[in-house]
Amino acid sequence: MANDGNRVNPINYLIIHHSAGPAFSEGSDREVADWYSSVGKGRGYKNYAHSYHYDPRTGKETFAQAHYALHRYSGDKNKYGWRLVLLIRDPELNVSWGAGNWPVNQHGINIEICGDYSYKTIDPKALLLITDSFIYLDKRLGGNLLIRGHKEVSQTGTACPGKIQTQMPILKDMFNNRSKYENLLVPPVVVPPPPPVPPVKTDAEKLKELQDIFDAYKNEKELIISDLEGKFASAKIVLGFTGDDVEFIDFLKSVKLKVDAYDKWTGWAKQLGNGILAIISNIKNRKNGTK
Ligand SMILES: [Zn+2]
Repeated sequence: MANDGNRVNPINYLIIHHSAGPAFSEGSDREVADWYSSVGKGRGYKNYAHSYHYDPRTGKETFAQAHYALHRYSGDKNKYGWRLVLLIRDPELNVSWGAGNWPVNQHGINIEICGDYSYKTIDPKALLLITDSFIYLDKRLGGNLLIRGHKEVSQTGTACPGKIQTQMPILKDMFNNRSKYENLLVPPVVVPPPPPVPPVKTDAEKLKELQDIFDAYKNEKELIISDLEGKFASAKIVLGFTGDDVEFIDFLKSVKLKVDAYDKWTGWAKQLGNGILAIISNIKNRKNGTK
């Protein structure tokens, strides 16, 4: 285990930063880790040959000045849409140079949020990932983890973590009332669109459809009952009847009554009326076994 010898227990500070650098949205761990190492090499470690910190993936020396970097990442379909990248191996045994306050660093875990948050706040789901990742520290301390924005602890002066500072009370509340925030992670319920409602046919429309069926017989001198019977099934389909023949007959009767009532006893309607009566009597006869 790599141990730089600087740690002082307990670890009771969690310090939040923004990098004011690239957001690394959907970037790789490698990309993120390399950037923080190279920036640290040019800043805090400018005059140091070694950090004695090691990249957890490559084992190579890293000059990152925070233990973790947080960025948008959904490639692994995680429930936050954010990813915490470990920058320094064995974070509990190694002190990162992030807070501008050596004793706080010695007791702290530094987290860099990738991107420039000088003028914007961060997605609360990112804060929830921080909460879920470090709530174990708070539990270990009996609820006494000190969660701070960089500027609250810096002895050198800084605007870091930008506008995220205004969200520190939310982050603290997440640690204290975690269940209250679970709904942030619940995907929105997708309400399926209601099934299309078949248009309700008016009596006039039904009559029109019946007329069309019987129009096929317009030029026939006689309605042949057997032909009508052939149309009986198709009439049911056209009119959308799913019920049995008895129900259909009831409908046909009502149509007949309406036809009478409307006094639209045109030639087709007479045919229709006669045809219906023929069908009805035919079916009655068949049921009675008289056909
Ligand atoms: Zn900072």
